[in-house]
Amino acid sequence: MRFKSFAHYIRFAYDNSAAVREKFDDAGLKPGDVQSPGDLPRLPVTRKPDLSKRQQEKPPFGGFLAVPLSSVQRVFASPGPIYDPQGEGEDYWRWGEALTAAGFEAGDIVQNTFSYHLTPAGFMFDSALRSMGCTVIPAGVGNTELQAQIMRDLRVTGYVGVPSFLYSLIKKAEEQGFVSELALRRAWITAERLPEELRALLREKYGVKVFQGYGTADTGCVAFECLEAKGLHPGRGVVVEIVDPQTGEPVPDGETGEIVITLMVKTYPLLRLASGDLSAFAPEPCPCGRPGKRLAGVLGRAAAGVKVRGLFLYPHQVSELAGEFREIRALRAVVTQQDFKDELTLEAELHLEAEESLELTRAVATRAKDLLRLKARVVVVPPRTIDNTLIVDKR
Ligand SMILES: [Zn+2]
Repeated sequence: MRFKSFAHYIRFAYDNSAAVREKFDDAGLKPGDVQSPGDLPRLPVTRKPDLSKRQQEKPPFGGFLAVPLSSVQRVFASPGPIYDPQGEGEDYWRWGEALTAAGFEAGDIVQNTFSYHLTPAGFMFDSALRSMGCTVIPAGVGNTELQAQIMRDLRVTGYVGVPSFLYSLIKKAEEQGFVSELALRRAWITAERLPEELRALLREKYGVKVFQGYGTADTGCVAFECLEAKGLHPGRGVVVEIVDPQTGEPVPDGETGEIVITLMVKTYPLLRLASGDLSAFAPEPCPCGRPGKRLAGVLGRAAAGVKVRGLFLYPHQVSELAGEFREIRALRAVVTQQDFKDELTLEAELHLEAEESLELTRAVATRAKDLLRLKARVVVVPPRTIDNTLIVDKR
């Protein structure tokens, strides 16, 4: 469902969705005040817990639904609970664009391993693939042995699901001695982090090219990789913003912030839905020629971040910093306050064979300044001091 312009979308959403109207009223704005995506920060974000609460108060969709309930084809329930409508159209969630960009095409036989009940992922990819002329095996979750056999028997060429299950299926085929009989050439994954080592292993050892994308149960496709597989292109029908999770204001390109999604569809015009996921805009053009900025993947959850001297610090940044030093086994950021000023200490636990040195702690502090943009004191702590918590806020 396309709108002639962003302004037309806003007008439609305002006229047809009580929740959108309320959002404008709360901000003291009229539809004419939001004429382009650049005006969106004038409106408040909607967080997922708010959406859930609104839905409890005004069932089933909290006033966001902009079409009669009779044109909703399915309703899904995601954790929260949050209820999500499926509107009309053969690829309602618009994943066809993402799968096409990854090279899926008519004639592919695709094993769809997302769940088909309650949560929408199974139907999302099922409808997208069928709209492209692919044949779908609605495999769902689990049954590794049977699914590996199906993959062989039906000459499956494509996989859709999470990367860990793809790897389990291939390992199972290997264990049973028929991995060389698989026709699998392409995989599309989402909803779980894709380690680059796994991507390389699947390509080099098993001949499976893996691509990924990002979306939510509420909005469907948000962004996806092209064949270059370097960053995610925002999909059509959505406006993506990267904002400061506390203020809702956009952050500069390259800086980490929360992904906020505006869904430009008639059924469910969610306006500035805060996803809780983090990313950053990579502004440089992609070699594939698609216009616009790309998202630098999904970098963690917004709720896990803490603000230190006005800057957000996220667990993934701490582990990234640790990963640059082979002497470091674990690194933990401890935030304290001294005379009302935030202090950041990085506690480093070294590998047993590594030597503590002034050079090392200085090097870590220097890199912390580059990567975290924060001045930090670096101390070495005894082995087995640090558990899985990467940030400790003692303020
Ligand atoms: Zn591209």
